[in-house]
Amino acid sequence: MGRIDPDRRHANIDYVMFMTLGDFKVRGGELRAVCNKCRTAQKIDLDVLMRLNGGHAILWGRKGRCRVWACEGEATFEGRAVAGQSWVPMRHKPSRGEMRDFAERWHEVVKGKDVEW
Ligand SMILES: [Zn+2]
Repeated sequence: MGRIDPDRRHANIDYVMFMTLGDFKVRGGELRAVCNKCRTAQKIDLDVLMRLNGGHAILWGRKGRCRVWACEGEATFEGRAVAGQSWVPMRHKPSRGEMRDFAERWHEVVKGKDVEW
């Protein structure tokens, strides 16, 4: 299989298609941070996040600090592929094997595809 299945565009996020911040940018995904203490959900500006962390940064399995004043809670990142879809908590930290699968899947997706320029 050398092409991205068009149906995947309507599937919600997973760590294969939405691994890095750059993947979210390219595929139009959305991100938010939800505090585990005050439960506040805050929308994340992807462009700002990419400037701060780089396009190759991975949020899966990572935590952030809550931005609500005086709250010392931890924020879990959540993502979704398209507005209106349910938010998927990105708690899963990809294992070494899953990272390898990810790299191989990408190789298959990219291989044989004409370069767009
Ligand atoms: Zn909080």
